[in-house]
Amino acid sequence: MLWKKPKENNPEPLIATFDVLLVDLDGVVYAGERPISSAIEALTRAKESKTTAFVTNNASRTDVQVAELLQRLGLPWVNENLVVTSPQAAVRMLKKLVEAPANILVVGGDGVVDELQKAGYTPVRDADENPEAVIQGFHREVGWKDLAEAAYAIQNLGIPWIATNQDWTIPQERGIAPGNGTLVSAVHTAVGILAEVAGKPEIPIFHQALERFGITPENEDSKSRVLVVGDRLDTDIRGAGNTGLESLLVLTGIDGPKQILAATGNDRPTYIVDSLQELFEPYPQLQVSGNTYISGDARVRLVGDDIVIDNPGSKHTDLVRAASALIWESGRQIYGFNIPELLYSRQPKIDL
Ligand SMILES: [Mg+2]
Repeated sequence: MLWKKPKENNPEPLIATFDVLLVDLDGVVYAGERPISSAIEALTRAKESKTTAFVTNNASRTDVQVAELLQRLGLPWVNENLVVTSPQAAVRMLKKLVEAPANILVVGGDGVVDELQKAGYTPVRDADENPEAVIQGFHREVGWKDLAEAAYAIQNLGIPWIATNQDWTIPQERGIAPGNGTLVSAVHTAVGILAEVAGKPEIPIFHQALERFGITPENEDSKSRVLVVGDRLDTDIRGAGNTGLESLLVLTGIDGPKQILAATGNDRPTYIVDSLQELFEPYPQLQVSGNTYISGDARVRLVGDDIVIDNPGSKHTDLVRAASALIWESGRQIYGFNIPELLYSRQPKIDL
């Protein structure tokens, strides 16, 4: 499958094409505890003319708590209406299955409990309290007993089980820690069925966001005015692709050139930038001539199985844009190519 390509011959700044930005948090707005200053400036400029909203898989905080975090990091204009969370998407799914005020077994913390209460449900913690569904989200206090109660409820009562997200890891100050996906997997091991998943890269969280900002998911025209901004191919970018939205990968977080070149299907971003400041510049037009791909002054060419760099160009990201387009449009698998190390060895610099 090809990818959702950049619009052709667009002399306008990249952002001009869009009305709504759906922005990831970690690796985009901040890295660990530190704000990414280029992103703070760019998002503050963007919100003057665009709906600039935030979409997070992390279920441990409420929308209000996420807004407060963003305010502290230098985005004082963010309120909870601009924050879309995976518990909100999970409760949206729940409403289609179970009517309030049903008891809902919670594995997780404030983020899940708060959304359930707002929707009129009754959060419970024990499988003996007649829950009619299980919602499981990340919280650092989740323990064996919570996982066991979820397992009992799912296997004994046959009730729906919704996971806010399935992220395998969660970045913490002291390192990479096991994410919600590992805890969902623990329950899965006990019950033998799979959870329904609300968060990225699944579609419900994006539909939650589109609905909030007045975009009809069935209307391709209005969807084309939405840009998903993220740092991970397997959540942000894949989720955008799954939902039929254009996406922008910013190289301030997890994924870099190596992952981009090897990306398949919906993991391929429409746009690749070093910093969100590039939203205010025209995106370089990709030029293709036979086997030669050009972005900016970077030029690559396919010769047999070899990717040959004719000109590395003045900006490494242009080289990655040209080479990834070449590889993706070839329809061939990444391991069929000989790829010069220069293309993928450089790690993106985080612009703090
Ligand atoms: Mg991220």
